[in-house]
Amino acid sequence: MRTPVIAGNWKMHKTLAEARALARAVKAGAAEVSHCQVVLAPPFTALAAVAEEIRGTPLILAAQNVFWETQGAYTGEISIPMLQDVGCGIVILGHSERRQYFGETDETVNRRVKAVVKSSLRAIVCIGETLSQREAGIHHEVISQQLAGALDGLTPQTSWRIILAYEPVWAIGTGRTATPEVAQEVHAAIRNWMAGKFGGETAQAMQILYGGSVKPENIDDLMRQPDIDGALVGGACLEAQSFLRIVHYHC
Ligand code: PEP
Repeated sequence: MRTPVIAGNWKMHKTLAEARALARAVKAGAAEVSHCQVVLAPPFTALAAVAEEIRGTPLILAAQNVFWETQGAYTGEISIPMLQDVGCGIVILGHSERRQYFGETDETVNRRVKAVVKSSLRAIVCIGETLSQREAGIHHEVISQQLAGALDGLTPQTSWRIILAYEPVWAIGTGRTATPEVAQEVHAAIRNWMAGKFGGETAQAMQILYGGSVKPENIDDLMRQPDIDGALVGGACLEAQSFLRIVHYHC
């Protein structure tokens, strides 16, 4: 049995006061949740404040990126020990916005992944095709290539630190969600790829999240799919009410 994960990616939103208020509201509605793991990924500036708000609850703090070196002259970067120090249990890696706007590649995602699996953190590794790749019918090849690149060097022993997030780029922030059937088809293909690389047992244990305009209106149907183990939520996690409805999905 795979424990579902509902993760909120706050992106570049929320001042300290707003972050505290959102964390408190999520805590009020989700602190007793045991059917899934609830993850909050505020911006770096709000990590400590959100950590304080959710201390003592099962809510998990996550960061939106991390650098692979532990310390040094890397202006603007944040290290794994710093994330551990502030209370993170998870870090999001390879989000399509990092790839699109900040030059992230499969190779740099892989360097981050390799560093994270050596630590006590887990990583949500994002993959997904663009609209033109989907329209050209090459999405399976693109996803296989991203998986091979991002997970290069991993072993079945370290792979449990990885949570995958299938996020078709054409569905992120666009309001255009993949249908549950389209998402399920890709999730099954990802699990199949994992089985070929790491063996069936590892593939069956791997949590694979869907991301891309997940909302209260579509979460239930998505979660009914056998290979969808949760959601990475952007826009709909910025308000407690909609995020909590997603956390309390029905299936
Ligand atoms: C995301 O940021 O990972 C995401 C899926 O965003 P949205 O839910 O807004 O599409």
